[in-house]
Amino acid sequence: MVRSDVTWYARRLAADLGAVGDDPIEFILDHAERQIRAVAKKHCVSTLADLLTATAQAVGTRFETVSTDEELDQLVARYIDRGETPFAQLPKDFRDSFGVTLRLIQRRPWELEHVSVIDCRGSKAYRAFFTKWHELAHLLVLTQQAQFKFRRTHAEKQAADEALMDMIAARFGYWSGILQPHLGGNLTFETLSAIKSAHCPEGSWQSFVHAAIDRWPTAAVYIKAEPRLKRAEERQLNQTTLWTRTSTAKLRLADVIVNDAARSRGADLFPNMRVPQTSILHRIHTSREDGGTATECLSLWESSARGALRQCEIVVVGRSAYEGVEGLISFD
Ligand SMILES: [Zn+2]
Repeated sequence: MVRSDVTWYARRLAADLGAVGDDPIEFILDHAERQIRAVAKKHCVSTLADLLTATAQAVGTRFETVSTDEELDQLVARYIDRGETPFAQLPKDFRDSFGVTLRLIQRRPWELEHVSVIDCRGSKAYRAFFTKWHELAHLLVLTQQAQFKFRRTHAEKQAADEALMDMIAARFGYWSGILQPHLGGNLTFETLSAIKSAHCPEGSWQSFVHAAIDRWPTAAVYIKAEPRLKRAEERQLNQTTLWTRTSTAKLRLADVIVNDAARSRGADLFPNMRVPQTSILHRIHTSREDGGTATECLSLWESSARGALRQCEIVVVGRSAYEGVEGLISFD
């Protein structure tokens, strides 16, 4: 999905929402943020988990989650029994979506207007927190003119719409208004895990750490490294055997998040960059240690194209991770 398609869709939606200004995506994000700010203030919300619950209530939906095929069948049967026939489509909807929001057609007076069903079967469970926000995004930008129906058939429209909802979900799942005051101090995995458990235990580690490092008040870097080939080597992979692949793979960055402050200190790390053999991260991986901390020089990091990074003292915290190693880098 290219951004121009999203902008085209956003322009139409923003116009329906009474847009002013010439950036429709920013207008829509502001439109959602005004509602979320009001919810947070009204309920004195202090954690991201509570923000999710309070926002769901405010936009008139409640979540149902299903973790197995059996649970999905039971949920569908339960709603069909009470006359909610559109739920029969859910198994089909979930073939290519993570969540579906339906307006109840036989709503009881005490019930909210919608139900958002979140598919948590298998690997979809890792995305549940984000999926919930995606469903709320649809309701946050619901227009009176919009026909509230999530089973769209026009593929192009659906892709742009869904990409826009993902942008809203990404902004508010880890909304700075709540998260920012809790970020800071020693950059360690313990610190980050404590913030995550207090605020958004449902969120995936990877999505949380991206948001937290991006907003960290001082220079901060998160990296995940695993044995990988060079890009050129990957292109030749078809010619090689698995044995050759494992024998030439080097510990390289698979995931990197460098915040603006760290970027300005010269932490110009990028995906697929090789982890220095003298770094504690390399040692943790090769000696299968649980973790450790070391003071190192940023200039250990180098690439054939760009040479070594600048000389600067950094603190590196590492821990072993599934198929690799994770690291946090702070300065001073
Ligand atoms: Zn959607």
